[in-house]
Amino acid sequence: MSLEIKDLHVSVDGELILKGISLSVEKGKVYALMGPNGSGKSTLANVLMGNPKYKIESGSIFLDGKDITKLKPHERARLGLFLSFQYPNEISGVTISNFLRTALNSKSDKKIAVLEFHKILKEKMGLLKMDKSFMTRYLNDGFSGGEKKRTEILQMSILEPNYAILDETDSGLDVDALKVVSEGINQLLGPTLGVIIITHYQKILNYIKPDKIFILMDGKIVASGEKDIINDLEEKGYDWIKEEASAS
Ligand code: ADP
Ligand code: MG
Repeated sequence: MSLEIKDLHVSVDGELILKGISLSVEKGKVYALMGPNGSGKSTLANVLMGNPKYKIESGSIFLDGKDITKLKPHERARLGLFLSFQYPNEISGVTISNFLRTALNSKSDKKIAVLEFHKILKEKMGLLKMDKSFMTRYLNDGFSGGEKKRTEILQMSILEPNYAILDETDSGLDVDALKVVSEGINQLLGPTLGVIIITHYQKILNYIKPDKIFILMDGKIVASGEKDIINDLEEKGYDWIKEEASAS
């Protein structure tokens, strides 16, 4: 069971951003996708989820053997794909509780009863150390960066996806919030979930251990490896890979 990305070329507003990405994401494994700003990380996340702004010029995406390249975002969600946004939207007037129950109900054919849902929600919020008062707060309205990211992971824990793409879930978090969010993600890891952690910095990888790391630069994967690659990055920055990539 895997999410297969095959030679994906993607343009935004007529400009080619992803220039041939191939990746295989297996269930039960954690991947880190790293790269400097503007390398195309969020573009990949958006195109995997089916954001219509991003145009697939060529290539394909398969989810557990099914071609999902042309499916709508909600169809992909129903098949078990989940994206945590780099910049989560604020929706005033919609409570977290209502939003998440609607999201869960739209994923499956059987509807969950309100009380039963509240029980699950409270339990999941507890795991993420979120105060119960958040249940009735409007989605992300006035939330701090850390609270928004926690809410994204709460959404993931409720939806129980098979494949999750977490776009810079670590950005803007202080050390304490990063620990809580990382622990929350670690609790969700297991044999039925494949995760791509998108990050600019290696810090979150001190808390969440990836099986494999990919480096994206200028719309291409220029390096991949295990944790030694992070040490090199830490010491030498992304320029080092740029030089290696252009020399080979
Ligand atoms: P990253 O997430 O790695 O920082 P992005 O995928 O956000 O990179 O951006 C890659 C490139 O694509 C950048 O040059 C950016 O300006 C461009 N781009 C991304 N999204 C859009 C968009 N919605 N409209 C126009 N350009 C975009
Ligand atoms: Mg980004």
